[in-house]
Amino acid sequence: MSVLIVGSIALDTVKTPVEEHADLLGGSASYASVGASFFTGVNLVGIVGDDFPKAHIDYFGSRKIDLAGLQIVPGKTFRWSGEYHWDLNTRETRSVELNVFEHFNPTLPANYAGTPIVLLANIAPALQNHVLDQMQKPKFVIADTMDLWINIAKDELLRLLKRVDMLILNDGEARQLTGETSLIKAGAKIRELGPRFVALKKGEHGCLLFGPDTFFSCGAYPLEDIHDPTGAGDTFAGGLAGFLASRTGDGTGDGKEVTFDLLRQGVVAGSVLASFNVEAFSLERLRTLTQKDIEERYRMFKLMSHFETL
Ligand code: AMP
Repeated sequence: MSVLIVGSIALDTVKTPVEEHADLLGGSASYASVGASFFTGVNLVGIVGDDFPKAHIDYFGSRKIDLAGLQIVPGKTFRWSGEYHWDLNTRETRSVELNVFEHFNPTLPANYAGTPIVLLANIAPALQNHVLDQMQKPKFVIADTMDLWINIAKDELLRLLKRVDMLILNDGEARQLTGETSLIKAGAKIRELGPRFVALKKGEHGCLLFGPDTFFSCGAYPLEDIHDPTGAGDTFAGGLAGFLASRTGDGTGDGKEVTFDLLRQGVVAGSVLASFNVEAFSLERLRTLTQKDIEERYRMFKLMSHFETL
């Protein structure tokens, strides 16, 4: 098992201009874990209520997802509902019910503490810090966040940033966190807050990867039909973390280091996974996705961004 993922596990209700579906499997850790499982084994840390369908737990188990860190407690599962505007790039949160999530105390099973790659998917920064407190000495730690935490838990988030190797956030959040309108300046400023690397997501326009004195621009796959953008960012983060885990060994010390070149490949792998995820509601597209699909789309990404010298 080589990537530890903590985050939310949810039942989502999602409305787009053409469709609405209720009580779908969702949550940052669900998307991230299934995304990562295409590359590596996953140690999942999360919480659900006793109303959470067994079929979803069986689905996680059918992937390479270890469930010893999944708490199933009396009560209702976290619920989130969102509605997308016509461009499918912007959305409004309609409701959030924390339910069992309100008293979530992520306690790691003893054998999770040595997991080499850690993805702190989107949850409260205090919980992300609490998980890091229990880790031995991870090789590479990635954190995801959202506007809510920049608004209501900025100090805790700033404390977290000093402890992680990479932060993932979207363009609006980067501007909000730094007060910069230029994304290039924002990326540099976030690096000064702690993380050596920053992945700045730009929705349907791809992402920017920042490292020491360098950056990389990754395009997005031009899809004709987007059905549900929910979880794209989480699937991206999971794909990236899973890819890194698969390429950096098993934590015994003989694996490769995480370099900027490896991260370049990783953000493409994450973008490939995310581009599939938005083709259907919830995690439906990931259920039928094959390694061959991933390899073919990765090749398309490479072709799309290749050009001859002048
Ligand atoms: P994304 O589309 O990548 O922003 O992620 C959407 C997922 O985040 C949904 O499946 C929600 O269940 C989950 N989510 C929404 N709000 C929160 C929150 N405050 N904390 C944790 N997860 C959340």
